[in-house]
Amino acid sequence: METGAEYKGAGELHANRPPASLPPRSATSRSAGPRAPRFDIPEVDAFTRPYWEAAGRGRLLIRRCRAAGCGLAHHYPREFCPRCWSEDVVWEAASGRAVLYTWSVVHVNDLPPFGGRVPYTAAVVDLAEGPRMMTEVVGCAESRLRIGMALTVRFRELEGARTEGEPPLCIPVFGVASDASPDTAPDAVTARAARSSSLPPQEGDGGS
Ligand SMILES: [Zn+2]
Repeated sequence: METGAEYKGAGELHANRPPASLPPRSATSRSAGPRAPRFDIPEVDAFTRPYWEAAGRGRLLIRRCRAAGCGLAHHYPREFCPRCWSEDVVWEAASGRAVLYTWSVVHVNDLPPFGGRVPYTAAVVDLAEGPRMMTEVVGCAESRLRIGMALTVRFRELEGARTEGEPPLCIPVFGVASDASPDTAPDAVTARAARSSSLPPQEGDGGS
């Protein structure tokens, strides 16, 4: 798990935490529709754009350190390895497999639009590649949740958050794994296929 000094630089994601003060994209990019502030839209910048574009195509990306003797995978994405501080860190398609570490069912949330979604299951999951990730578990009754249960990633499109001409904004969430054998689960197959396709090397990372 990731401990130690937090890197405070650019690129911190707020995918699963309600951002405090983001301008609502929908207010400026749409000519009609509700103008109420919303707190579920991630801030996409040059560094995190590959992550959100991949999510829009149904792929979960993590970051992998390539420094000799390290190789740590981490999430949320950072431009430096949180263990060895190497800048030799690249994007990698995750398998989408995870196990449930802990959860909390949220019954009250005053921040729009979360109030319209309660109750929902805020969760922390351990990705198969190692990183621990804050997310949401969907499609599973609270009584069925179990620590260590197998999950696979799904993607929820943020309604009303699409900017014209851009791909949909999607948030990774997790559902109960559809197959007891993760190697044959459809999601795993999809993720493997995605991994074998060409992810451009990200040494420069655009925004760094
Ligand atoms: Zn490292």
